[in-house]
Formats: sequence, structure tokens, C-alpha cells
Amino acid sequence: MVFRPTRMNRPLIIAIDGPAGSGKTTTARLLAQRLGYTYIDTGAMYRALTLAALDYGVPITDDALAALLERISIELRHTPAGQRTYLDGRDVTERIRSADVTALVSQVSSFPSVRRSMIRLQRELGRNGGVVMDGRDIGTAVFPDADVKIFMTADLKTRAVRRLEELRAADPTLTVDDVVEQLDQRDAFDSSRQYNPLRRADDAIVVDTTNLTVEEQVERILGIIRDRTGTLSNDPSYERHY
Ligand code: C5P
Repeated sequence: MVFRPTRMNRPLIIAIDGPAGSGKTTTARLLAQRLGYTYIDTGAMYRALTLAALDYGVPITDDALAALLERISIELRHTPAGQRTYLDGRDVTERIRSADVTALVSQVSSFPSVRRSMIRLQRELGRNGGVVMDGRDIGTAVFPDADVKIFMTADLKTRAVRRLEELRAADPTLTVDDVVEQLDQRDAFDSSRQYNPLRRADDAIVVDTTNLTVEEQVERILGIIRDRTGTLSNDPSYERHY
């Protein structure tokens, strides 16, 4: 049976932010599984909007993208194999990871109307708690009152090596240096934008994943959740790891 922690009878909101390749997605997904919560990958929402702009030939301006967001449907469906992303009813889970989407997504997500609409959607998705949400601004803008805030980091080279493994299948010529450059550029853009930049919330706990396995990352965060909320204390399976 999965233990579902609550605080005052409400399932928790767990915010996980951090730069690209820090391990957020894998860790957040496993953490949600362990807690019996829903995992919400907010990056996939920005990526789906970017794909829609490319597919439908929409100009990359705030007004055009905000209007596009009103017309399209972006859905995150939860299957036993993990989260799948749908754009206007089509499964785009793999396509939103393509190099052309990745190259454009930071620009698309820097516009104020786009962010306002996305934040509204994300708040709606997490309204009842019981979510692990990952992104760049979850602890600062989407849920500033989240029960637990984690900021995941890892050194740039480690993040690039991890990302390279995922990207090599599509492009075998890619090198670590290429990925270092891509990640560095995207993080610089995300951190310096005017609206809801990537930044650690003052009350977020930093988890440096450079030398941690995925399982250790999950255990570390479970420990933090217990520490912060006391809600896991009646579950004996967590005692061993704390
Ligand atoms: O997490 P992922 O790498 O898929 O995110 C893709 C991009 O979406 C990020 O580089 C960032 O520009 C944007 N993003 C954002 N706010 C979020 C999640 C993602 O601006 N909450």
C-alpha cells in the first residue's frame, strides 16, 4: 500500500525547482509514485506550447502565444508508464523533447502573458494538493505556500553527461561540450528573464545531486518531507532511511 502523507487532512504540495538536467524529472516522478501523488511536469506544458507554435506557424510574440494558448488543449495524462503529454488530442510526449523545441522553449516561456496563463493552469492542477510539481518557478510563483520546496542542483558537467545519454539516441554526433553549452545558455536565459526567473525560493532546501544516485535523491527528499511536515513519521518504511 502506498502511504499518502497529509497535513491537516490535506495532501501536500511539493515543489521541485532547479536548472535543466539537475535530476528533477526522474526524481519527482519516482517521489510521486512513492507518495501516491500525481506528478506534474510543468516544463512539458511550456514545451507543448512551443511545439504548437512551431507546428501551427505562430509568431513568437507574447500576444500571439497567449492567444494560441487559449485555442489549444494541453493535457498531461497519467498512465502506468508515466506522464504522457497531449497537444490537441495527439500524443506529443517524444516530440516535445526534440532539438527544435528545446532551442525555442526558453524564449516562449519568457513572455508575461504566457507565464500568467500557465501559472493559472498549474495552480488549478495542484489546487487539491497531492502533487509533486517540477519546474523553475513552482516554489516562487506557482505555489509560494507549498508545503515543501526543494531546489535541485548539480554541477554543469554532471548535468550535461546525464542529458547527453538521453539525447544521443536522436543525435549520435552530439558531444558533452555541445550539451554543456546548450544547458548553460538555457539556464542563463531562464535565470535572467524578467518574469518568474529560475531562482531558489528563500525557504527551499537545496539538494545537490552531483554525487547522488536517483534512489538517494528520492530518499533525501522523503527525509526532508518528513522533517518539514512530520507527516511520514507513522510510516515505518521511511524510518530506515532517515
Ligand atoms: O524542465 P524542462 O527542461 O522540460 O523545461 C523546459 C523549459 O521550460 C525551461 O528551460 C524553461 O524555459 C521553461 N520552464 C519555465 N517554467 C517552468 C518550467 C519550465 O519557464 N515552471
